[in-house]
Amino acid sequence: MIDEELSWQETALCAQTGPEFFFPAPGASTREAKQLCGACEGRVECLEYALRHDEKFGVWGGLSEKERHRLKLRRA
Ligand code: SF4
Repeated sequence: MIDEELSWQETALCAQTGPEFFFPAPGASTREAKQLCGACEGRVECLEYALRHDEKFGVWGGLSEKERHRLKLRRA
């Protein structure tokens, strides 16, 4: 059984495409990942998970590291 906190991963589109879009090399585009996130059912839960766990790398819930950092500062 999947942990309640991770249930959004059941429908994660990134799990079907592989991690390369979601963890791009420094300076590489995050556009494709963000487009997929925009169509992902678990986007909100994914983003909240990343914020709660202070995920430093990659695109989560449609936001890059910098965008998540800015969101955290706005919420603080
Ligand atoms: S929102 Fe994006 S990173 Fe999160 S599970 Fe969906 S596709 Fe993956």
